[in-house]
Amino acid sequence: MARADDNFDVRTQLVRAGRRPALTQGIVNPPVYHASTCTFETLGDFDARRADPDSGLLYGRQGTPTIWALEEALTGMDPGAAGTKLFPSGVAAISGALLTVARPGGHILFPDSAYEPTRGLAQGLLKPLGMEVEFYDPRIGAGIAERIRETTRAIYMESPGSLTFEVQDVPAIVEAAKARGITTILDNTWATPLLFPAMARGIDIEVQSLTKFIVGHSDAMMGAVTAAPGHWPRVKAMAKRLGQTAGPDDVYLALRGIRTLAPRLRQHGETALRLARAVGAHPAVSRVLCPGLPGDPGHALWQRDFAGYSSIFSFILAGGERADLRHLIDDLALYSIGFSFGGFESLILPIEPAPLRTATRFEADGPAIRIHCGLEDAGDLEADLIAGLDRYAARTGSSGARAAGGAATR
Ligand SMILES: *Cc1c(COP(=O)(O)O)cnc(C)c1O
Repeated sequence: MARADDNFDVRTQLVRAGRRPALTQGIVNPPVYHASTCTFETLGDFDARRADPDSGLLYGRQGTPTIWALEEALTGMDPGAAGTKLFPSGVAAISGALLTVARPGGHILFPDSAYEPTRGLAQGLLKPLGMEVEFYDPRIGAGIAERIRETTRAIYMESPGSLTFEVQDVPAIVEAAKARGITTILDNTWATPLLFPAMARGIDIEVQSLTKFIVGHSDAMMGAVTAAPGHWPRVKAMAKRLGQTAGPDDVYLALRGIRTLAPRLRQHGETALRLARAVGAHPAVSRVLCPGLPGDPGHALWQRDFAGYSSIFSFILAGGERADLRHLIDDLALYSIGFSFGGFESLILPIEPAPLRTATRFEADGPAIRIHCGLEDAGDLEADLIAGLDRYAARTGSSGARAAGGAATR
């Protein structure tokens, strides 16, 4: 399917994409096609469609106008992309991307900060298929070249890292990979192509959990794999072979979500930076993990490579035990405990990154927390969270070394 008009800004394309009259018949939102069987009246029509299955409906699993509308919109928001396939979840999309590069005896590199279920696929899918899986320090940058072997099939990236927000030097890793003809895969869920245009930065295969910012309303699960021209035929063929597709009502929710992605992300990002700053100034907090703040080890790379901040950051408390987190969490009015992010509602999540690591160490003075900043008023969110930190400090007596010095922003 054709991509959206290249002459417009990506934000404009998000409003227009996937709305060609051929898909919508002029209705503003693409209709929801519930389809398995598609019928043909003549042998000639049937054979013509089978000879050119991309020319229209053939069978539900091969796609419908609803699905093509979303795939077009996702491809169009990533300049340089050749195409996108939908999957029923982000994890399913990651498995599809990995299976396009999996070969017995092949070697694949993963950042130590990868999303936990991605580690699960490395260990539980790729290893049993006979692949060698190696984890690397997410801050390795150009040093990745030393990890590349004759058998290396792909370098996987996720930036910033899940839970801990290490920013990867994606351009340096891409350069090292290209020099050896190795495929790069990026999980771009945190940034979306709006904040990090993956294809333009030389990524070969991009994965997104659409569950997060594209759907944006915590009411559907979906994933996508987007590929550069040289990789698109493989990605498309593998998705088809695996029988991956997504349900039409959920696809509709993602299409509705993508229209407002740009203003939502701007608001999420503004609030997240404000809250990260406020949290970093609180004496009960020893460290904020937020590359959007000066002083964070990833700040320079984030400033160089990203067009804005996203909705989540983490922080480490200056003392106390995990059980003490109830003093922080239980009386919050605006944050519920929950996985995921990207929805309109704020979330708080106790995290434990240390036991997941195998190539690096994660050190912390106290328990750690991840915050997803929703679309509530930033002042309300800040007051609620700071009141929680005040309760935590009062009940645990943990006000860190910075208590005397007051509000040091990190
Ligand atoms: C949530 C998430 C996924 C998985 O997406 P699901 O849609 O929940 O399967 C993958 N990668 C990252 C970075 C995520 O945050």
